[in-house]
Parts: sequence; C-alpha cells; structure tokens
Amino acid sequence: MPTDCLFRDDSYLKDCEARVVAIDERGIVLDRSIFYATSGGQPNDTGALTASNGAVVPIVNVLFLDQGKTEIAHVAAPDAPALAVGDTVRAAIDWDKRYARMRMHTALHLLSAVLPYSVTGGSVGDADSRLDFDIPDAGLDKDAITAQLAEMIATNAAVTGRWISDDELAANPSLVKTMSVKPPMGTGRVRLIEIATPERRLDLQPCGGTHVRNTGEIGAVRVTQIEKKGKQNRRVRIAFG
Ligand SMILES: [Zn+2]
Repeated sequence: MPTDCLFRDDSYLKDCEARVVAIDERGIVLDRSIFYATSGGQPNDTGALTASNGAVVPIVNVLFLDQGKTEIAHVAAPDAPALAVGDTVRAAIDWDKRYARMRMHTALHLLSAVLPYSVTGGSVGDADSRLDFDIPDAGLDKDAITAQLAEMIATNAAVTGRWISDDELAANPSLVKTMSVKPPMGTGRVRLIEIATPERRLDLQPCGGTHVRNTGEIGAVRVTQIEKKGKQNRRVRIAFG
C-alpha cells in the first residue's frame, strides 16, 4: 500500500499522526510518513514512533520497498516494543539531523549550478557532502567555487517544488543532471525543484529529496576538497563553516 510521503510536499514537518497498515520482517508500514527513506544520495531519517499507550519505538532505518519509491518501511530498533496493524502512532523525526541535511542537500543543488556538468554521483553526509562530476580537468578552484556558492546563498533565492508528468520529463531530458541517480519515475509524476529569485533562476532539476525553503537558510559552506576520481571524474566535497 503506497505511503503518503508528507515530506515531499512539506519537508519542515517534524511529527505527524499515522496508522500502522502493515508489519513484516522488512519493517513497519504507515499510511503516511514524515520519515525520509534513503534515496538519491540522502540518508534516511531516524526518530521514533510513539503508540497511544506511550510505548516508544525507536526507528533506526527507513527504506523504500519498491522501485517507484511509493511505499516506505520503518525499521525499529532490535529490542523495541511491538506495534500492531491498526495502531495509531505519533511519528517524530530527529529534526536537527534532518534540517542540517536539508541545508546540505540544497547546497548541493547550488554546487551543481556553479559547476554545470553532468553529475555522476553524490551523497549528503552529516560531516560533509559531495558531488561527482563528469569532467576531465576543469582547473577547478576551491576558493572560487566557495565564493560562487556564497554569492548564490546570499541571494535568498526561493526553493520551490512542483510536479510534472513523466511524459513532460521525458520530453525535456536536459533537466536531468544526475546520470547515476535517476529521479523516481513510473508513478506518472516527478517532482521538479526550482531555486530562483524573481530575476534569476539558479537551478531546476527533478529531485525527490528534502530542501530548505530559502537559500539563506543554508548558511556558510565551503569547498573542502576536490579529488580526482578517474580520468573523467572530479569529486567535490563541501562542508558547513
Ligand atoms: Zn534535491
């Protein structure tokens, strides 16, 4: 049964009520969730489900059960109290960790705008994050990229999402920058994330991750390392601060 993925339309939700609709060895399925499931280089949220009797079930892993990324399983800590199908729970995520990832993830969108090359991989980490670019040698300069990121962040550009059909995306393949992490398709619609001021569009690409509403929330980031990963690949790492 598809999960209503509340984080897709509002990434600022910290908790919600939900109903347990299935439980098996893969985890607990809820009718709706604010827990981001690992995908697109962004790790899963952690948090807890609290039953109406007060029992607290720590959630240590969250994964999509299907290729179309519509159904989410919440994996409980090994010795957590048991829930039953039909239970109503209050779901809450570890917000500080998630919010840092939203800031970092949005910064990676800007990095892909500063460096307009094909992205072959990437990940959002808690200490640092990275994108891999398909470029032979661009003479990339850490300080110059850091300065361009800072300039974009300071524009306080709005980060907005809208849904387009799979057909619209297929008709505009240039929208997809990330060759290795295709946006989830097959459900008929894809979410497009735009970062723009009234005067200037900084980035537009399909993405299922979680983002801040305004680039100003990202704060200071800097390029910490540029690594050569093969002839046609440069890995660019960023961190806060
Ligand atoms: Zn994104």
